[in-house]
Amino acid sequence: MLVHDTVGTARTTAEADQIRTSLRARYDELSAEYEQAVMQSQVLRLVEVGDTAGDDQADSGTKTAERDTAQSLLRTILDRRAQFEHALTRLDEGTYGFCEGCTAPIPVERLEIYPSATACVTCKQNRERRAA
Ligand SMILES: [Zn+2]
Repeated sequence: MLVHDTVGTARTTAEADQIRTSLRARYDELSAEYEQAVMQSQVLRLVEVGDTAGDDQADSGTKTAERDTAQSLLRTILDRRAQFEHALTRLDEGTYGFCEGCTAPIPVERLEIYPSATACVTCKQNRERRAA
């Protein structure tokens, strides 16, 4: 486990519980969203299977686009859910709220907007620059 200089930034158990509750709530929301999106994409597929006989080119193009949209939505939801899962793990480890890159405390204002953030703005930008 990483040792941090937690002076002035140490979280009380009550605070950690509060954060856990809100992270968990978002996680559950995303799970529900995912289930719903899966169901919708299955409906899409059923419609497609039962309805291809009289299709012209334009119709099947639209359906492919709809299916792509549905798949990228599923991926987005899973990615976001994984971020919250990761944040919960870090909360359990006691490293939540500290940057994964430079271990500096992540500003509370940033965590309020992005509760699943695991890197400070500088490290996140560096990472994105490297990935680009
Ligand atoms: Zn950082």
